Amino acid sequence: MADEVLSPHPAWREIDDYCAGRLLAFEVASVEEHMFECKRCSDLTKQIRFASQVVDGWTAVSHGYAHGLQRRIAEGLSRAESLAPALLRSRLSDWRARWSDTVGGAVRLIVRTPGKTSELVTSGLEAILSPAAPFPVFELVPTRTRGETTVAESPVKGILPKASIAVTGNRIVVVVRSTPEESPPLIVLFPQNSDQAPLVQAAEWSNESASWKARITGIPTGDYIVALSPSPFEDKSTQDV
Ligand SMILES: [Zn+2]
Repeated sequence: MADEVLSPHPAWREIDDYCAGRLLAFEVASVEEHMFECKRCSDLTKQIRFASQVVDGWTAVSHGYAHGLQRRIAEGLSRAESLAPALLRSRLSDWRARWSDTVGGAVRLIVRTPGKTSELVTSGLEAILSPAAPFPVFELVPTRTRGETTVAESPVKGILPKASIAVTGNRIVVVVRSTPEESPPLIVLFPQNSDQAPLVQAAEWSNESASWKARITGIPTGDYIVALSPSPFEDKSTQDV
């Protein structure tokens, strides 16, 4: 006799159902009676309960975080639209209508007090990346720091355009390699602090570097999501190999 348990061990499935509260009263009584005399099954029950709490907690936190980011984009776009000059308003309205709370690329920007190096964070923004955007860009994976300038670049994949964001102190330069026929990419800075208004700028074509460029200077101290509009490269998605 390996152990001195009188009743047979419940099946794994039954213990799982017990932990999830899916058993009827008489089944619960039977399982509890067994666990009273069986350390193996009562330990297993504790492990299952602990694991499911961790999973539930994790899901709630990450879901809440993702939802918060999406809301920030949706509200920020709406606010940007109401503040923007007429020329940009229709583009923002189009962005909102077609892509709602998602963006073509994003990076988090932290501008600290003057004299301190600003920071780019390229992770944790997956929830707001447009799944349909053929501009998978700002995963912006590799980040490098050269002196006071930090650069985040989009990975180069096939024929897809390449983009970069460089921050030096309180100014950023966004470069998007594409063609001048495209509509200019919009760059929006969504502040975390709701007292601050979003900053919007359309990139301008630079013949010199054969790319779209935007320069935003004098960014107030704060925590931002720098986002690119999803639409400019839409037509190219079908050519993606
Ligand atoms: Zn047992």
